[in-house]
Amino acid sequence: MTVGYLRPTRVLVNQQAIYENVQNELAQLKNQETEIFAVVKANGYGHGMVPVAQAAEAAGATGFCVAILDEALDLRRADFTEPILTLGITQPSYASLMAANQISVTVGSLTWLEEAYDILKSEKNSRPIHVHLGIDSGMGRIGFRDASELLAAYQFMQTHNDYFDFEGVFTHFATADDPDDTYFKEQSARFKTLLAVLPEQPRYVHVSNSATSLWHAACNGNMIRLGVSMYGLNPSGKAIEQVPYPLKPAMRVESELCFVKEVKSGSKIGYGATYTADSPEWIGTVPIGYADGWLRRMQGSQVLVDGQFCEVVGRVCMDQLMIRLPHEYPVDTKVVLVGNSGNESISLQDVADYAGTIHYEIACDLAERLPRVYQPITGDINI
Ligand SMILES: *Cc1c(COP(=O)(O)O)cnc(C)c1O
Repeated sequence: MTVGYLRPTRVLVNQQAIYENVQNELAQLKNQETEIFAVVKANGYGHGMVPVAQAAEAAGATGFCVAILDEALDLRRADFTEPILTLGITQPSYASLMAANQISVTVGSLTWLEEAYDILKSEKNSRPIHVHLGIDSGMGRIGFRDASELLAAYQFMQTHNDYFDFEGVFTHFATADDPDDTYFKEQSARFKTLLAVLPEQPRYVHVSNSATSLWHAACNGNMIRLGVSMYGLNPSGKAIEQVPYPLKPAMRVESELCFVKEVKSGSKIGYGATYTADSPEWIGTVPIGYADGWLRRMQGSQVLVDGQFCEVVGRVCMDQLMIRLPHEYPVDTKVVLVGNSGNESISLQDVADYAGTIHYEIACDLAERLPRVYQPITGDINI
């Protein structure tokens, strides 16, 4: 993928914000033994996997979670030596690769262990594979739902403990960000029932994503899979505004006007000629478009120029969009798509609200073509 270094459109990522969010999370934990694994899947929710991992590690995270094996291997290549857990299902055919790189794997069925065993045995693996048993307590995605199969998986690992190291057991909540905790409680009870089936508990028992840790801290277990709130975003969007510590957004999206003109009343703008200037108007062109993850449905939304909201007029193109300026501005004037400008600001939540989605999706959609520029850690906060 070509990265647009020579175009003035960029994603600025403040590593200090990530550092502070992790420090604040650590500071509010009741149990000092509880560890934080920074969730850096999907290129660190669009922020850049390795720089996010560095900031989280500096702040005290002791492990990482990723979605897929390729991400885990990229972290190992970047010389991270901490535990790395792949949260999705990895094919058992990669068992040896995972063992060799000490990647912890999520297992959700006995069959998976049996298939991995055949491979590890045939390849005479010298190191065991670290296993986290995933329990499906109600998310309905992956994991054990059945007590007898869970116990059988445990026993299979005990029998073949040269090949399997039982490192963790966990579940994932579907509604931890919901003010109504009825379903959360059901899931929590189901997890406890299934956990009780295991004759012993492994090193890591973990149930908390960001939302669980922020709003159901009593359930935390001894490790937290800290994702979206590490990036300074409220996991509930706007459903639960109360948070135990201020979340500091790490991302800013900026560009510059690349072309400015005054058009006559009645002039059309963009594909489909969907916008008509109803008076003489100053129109600025901004070099970002849907190929950068700036969704086509952002037509009609606002960006900031010189502390003023300006409307995106006409359709968002693949690589460019047009905005209506309050008056003439020179080419190269800064345009803020996410972040503050003067006294105004636009959050990822605002963008998500306009696009009819969640901030997670907006951040993850930002394309690789947008260069990520990092503002480094400046130091500890007073906590
Ligand atoms: C992505 C993910 C997380 C992190 O969730 P956030 O809401 O971003 O904190 C935690 N656990 C699992 C299983 C996940 O897939």
